[in-house]
Formats: sequence, structure tokens, C-alpha cells
Amino acid sequence: MSEKLNQLKEILGEVTDLNRAASVLSWDQQVNMPPAGGEARGQQMATLGKIAHEKSTSQEVGRLLDDLKNELSGSDSDDAALVRVATRRYDKDTRVPAEFVAEQAVVTTAAFEAWVEAKGKSDFSIFLPHLEKVVGLVKKYISFFPPADHPYDTLLDDYEPGMKTADVQKIFDDLRPQQVKLIKAISSAKQVKDEFLHKKYNEKKVWDFSEAIITKFGFDWNRGRQDKTAHPFQTTFSVNDTRITNRFEPGSPLATLFSAMHEAGHALYEQGSNPAYERTPLAGGTSLAVHESQSRMWENLVGRSLPFWEHFYPELKKSFPSQLDGVSVKSFYKAINKVEPSLIRVNADEATYNLHIMLRLELEIGMVEGKFAIKDLPEIWDAKMRDYIGITPPNVATGVLQDVHWSYGAIGYFSTYALGNLVSAQLWEKINGDIHDLDEQIRRGKFDALLGWLREKIHVYGHKYDPQDLVQKVTGSRIDSAAYVRYLTRKYSDIYAL
Ligand code: MG
Repeated sequence: MSEKLNQLKEILGEVTDLNRAASVLSWDQQVNMPPAGGEARGQQMATLGKIAHEKSTSQEVGRLLDDLKNELSGSDSDDAALVRVATRRYDKDTRVPAEFVAEQAVVTTAAFEAWVEAKGKSDFSIFLPHLEKVVGLVKKYISFFPPADHPYDTLLDDYEPGMKTADVQKIFDDLRPQQVKLIKAISSAKQVKDEFLHKKYNEKKVWDFSEAIITKFGFDWNRGRQDKTAHPFQTTFSVNDTRITNRFEPGSPLATLFSAMHEAGHALYEQGSNPAYERTPLAGGTSLAVHESQSRMWENLVGRSLPFWEHFYPELKKSFPSQLDGVSVKSFYKAINKVEPSLIRVNADEATYNLHIMLRLELEIGMVEGKFAIKDLPEIWDAKMRDYIGITPPNVATGVLQDVHWSYGAIGYFSTYALGNLVSAQLWEKINGDIHDLDEQIRRGKFDALLGWLREKIHVYGHKYDPQDLVQKVTGSRIDSAAYVRYLTRKYSDIYAL
């Protein structure tokens, strides 16, 4: 057995090397590359992707997995997990024909260009025929897989292994009315002032402050770095090389701090993955939702908490004495948690964020089911925005066309953003049960016990356990919304005196 296992690990190690080399190229494209480099870079990444695909779908891999699967089934060992995860990827990769992948690349490239134009002119009709083609391809993709309980299950499973559409719908159906009720209560309460957040702040000082914060979190600069890009993201080249990126928006200068905390949350997860999993599919995080639970925890449960700012605010005030003159820590805390129904998810506060996600999930499921005509999307979008968030987009550019994802066929993962929020609150309740003086530690700028807990219970397992199993193992229950509702209610009852 160990002979075959070694052969499998050798091939998967090479596949991992190729994929991570492609990630380096992609990171460089977004951080350093001059504009004219795009075409060659696209070819280079496509070549690496093609070689990785050929290697990972070879008959040899299929044979090795078949043999090892039987020998290792039922075991909780790392090797059994490796074979299980690799088998699932092999099965997915070999079901989708190469011609389909090529067709998809052509359709989505054109769709992306049409989306840019449609959004610019705020004209859905430009994007409509392209989106129809994209959705047609998504349905075709689903047809390569055995029928599931719901066709959307096949898409969701790519991002959230083992999760079913019906599970997510049930979680959201339970959560939605509670969040809508909370937002209504907040909107009739006395509003929070936040003008001082939109004054002029020095970019370099904000950037340095963001790095000081994540250093205290435990971000290892010997194994990571932060660079500037148009959109913040995190990427991993190895357990010893994890990159985050960030930006500075003059209109919301302190957003840089929260982006750094968010992306560092992703990076801490990757830096804590078991080094023994390197060059295997077990390295890194188990799913998008669990990954997002880490980023949202550091950004929100830690970074938007009062104890956190009781520690950091005096230093922040020292860096920005005129901007924050006369602003108490409590006023600052309220301002960074201000609830304001907004048109766009990326700027949404914690109280409204999940509703943006639910809206998209319902539309994606509707598109996949063919429950409505794609041409009716703008109207459906606006109606749901009114129902859930209480505002109507003034045009389609800020409505149905706001996000790029559908143009490149990325349908199936929006719900993981909201699930990540729910998991972060479930974990937080558990952590507070285990670390009784957590608030006090945060107030002293101490994060080592928190990071140690996350390392031991979540990070070290990498991809070994499926997300629902991991959450169950750590918290005693599967993903649900109760902890998140308790968290939001407690937080906003204080801030808005509800
Ligand atoms: Mg994220």
C-alpha cells in the first residue's frame, strides 16, 4: 500500500506545484505586472493549468485511487482523508470534457466584456444574451454529474463539499425574517454619527496601522506579506508563503484596517495548516464557508468589537489626532458598526450583509431551475431588494449588474459568504466557553490564546474534514443561524439602544 500511496503523493505533489506556480503568476498579474503583459500571462497560466489537468486526470491516478480507496476506507487517518479528497477531485475533473472547458472559456470571456459594457451603460439588454448562454453552460455542467436532490447541489458541492441546497435554504429561511426584523428596528432607532470616518487620513499611516494590528493577531511576516491591489484578496503558495493584498479608498480610509484583518484571517488559517499536508490536496482550508468564518471572525467579532478598540483606539487617536478629536472610543465603536441599508454587498454592514447573499442565492437557484426568464432578472432583483433591505436600486448598474461573478460563470458559491458569518458566531460562542477571559485578553491586545484555539481546533486539520463535519466536531452542532442571531441582537441592541 505505501508504495502506491507514495506514487499517488508524488503525482499530486507535482499537480500542487503547478497550481501554486499558477497562483504566483496570478498574484504577480494583480500586484506587479505592467498592463501589456496580460496576453502572455494568460497563455502561461493556461499552459500550467492544462499540464496540471492532464496529470491530475491521468488513468494512472484513477488506478491508484481505486486501489487505495478500498484499502483505506473507513479509516480516520490522514492518508484515508487524502485519498477521499483526491478521489472527489478526480471524479469531478474527469467528468467535465475538455471541449466544454474550452467552450466555457470563450463564452465567459465574451460575457465578461459584455458585462463591463452593460454595467457602464446601465443597460441589461447588452448582457442578457450572454447571461443566457452562461446559464445554459451551467446547466450543461450539471448534466455531467449524477442527478442530485436539487440541480444546484452540484454547483454548491464544488465550494462547500457535502452541503445541500435544501440545507442552505432551511438555514436562510430561518435567518431571513429575524434579520429583516432587526434592520427595521434599527432604522427607527436614533442613528449613529460617523462623519469622522470619512475625513482625510494619511494613506501610509493607515497602512502601517493595519500591519501593526495583524502583527498582533499573529500574522507571520516571515511566511507572508501584504501588497497593494485594486481588490483585496488572499492567496497561498505554501504553508510558508501566504500573501494578502489590500487597498486604500480615500472615501473610506479606515476600510483598509478591516480589509487587512479580513485577509489576515484567511492567511492565519493557511499559515496554521498542518505542514505534513504540504503538496497534497489536504493543505489549506476545508471550504469557502469555513475560510470565510476565519476572515469574518478577525474582521468583525474581534476587529469591530469594543474590547478590541479599547486597546487600539488610543494608538489610533495618536496617529490621527485631528480626525478623531473629541471622538470617544464608544462613539468610534458605534460608527464602525453603523447599519445602513446599501445597494452593494461589498460595503454592507453586518446586519444587512447576509440579506444581499440570500437575494443572490434565490436568483441563482431560480436561474438553474429555469423558474423564471433571465430577461426578468432586473425586476425580480429590485423587488427582493425592496423586501429584504428596504431600498430600490436607481438603475441596473447598481442593481442586478453590480457583481462580476455571473459573467464568468461563477454560480454556486455566494451562499458561502453568509454561511461563513454563521460559522464564525458558532465558533465564537464555543471559544468564549473555553477561554473565559477572552474579552479581557483582547482588551489587553492579546490574541495568542484565541489563535492557539483556532490553530488546534480548525487550522491544523486543513482539508481533512468536510465543513459540516468539522463544525459539528468543534461546536457540537451543524451549521445554523442561532448563534449569529444572538450575536447580532446583542451587539445592535447595545449600539442602537433597541
Ligand atoms: Mg473573504
